[in-house]
Amino acid sequence: MNNPNTLRVKSRSASGEVFYEGYDTASICENGHLITRNVETHPEHSETFCSKCGAKTVTACGHCGQKIRGHLHGTMPSMHDEPIAKFCYNCGGSYLWTEAALKAATELIAESDAFDNEEKERLTQSLRDVVQDTSRTQVAIMRLQKYLPKAGKQFADAFRSIVVDIASEAAKKALWP
Ligand SMILES: [Zn+2]
Ligand SMILES: [Zn+2]
Repeated sequence: MNNPNTLRVKSRSASGEVFYEGYDTASICENGHLITRNVETHPEHSETFCSKCGAKTVTACGHCGQKIRGHLHGTMPSMHDEPIAKFCYNCGGSYLWTEAALKAATELIAESDAFDNEEKERLTQSLRDVVQDTSRTQVAIMRLQKYLPKAGKQFADAFRSIVVDIASEAAKKALWP
């Protein structure tokens, strides 16, 4: 079987239209804004810096260098926004925007006066379990449900806006139904 990560020309129509197969490359900024899912077929949509936030854009995993998967040619483009990948399919490393959100959430917890140091420690430990769907995700959800109300609405809103994009589906459903 052909490597799906290599974009290939599948066929050309009589009028010269080119059909591809395989994954295109996605360009995403360090803060997780999607620039384009079609860097290889439509490089004109690329940006060196994100036009939404000014951060640098990347097209490959920072750990292994494998390209970030974009649109899978030969399938219909999704009507819905497909979620942006959190981890690299090739090496399992976390992408920059996943780390950025985890860091921001960690700082938010550290800033709060509602928790003592032990609670802050526990909450911070639970962050990764909220992102990765693991056997500990349910524990992390319970912990957050217990602690988040203590910190008030402003904290809860800020926490949600940072974490909602990287939280696992199970965590999202439980925390923000
Ligand atoms: Zn951005
Ligand atoms: Zn990687």
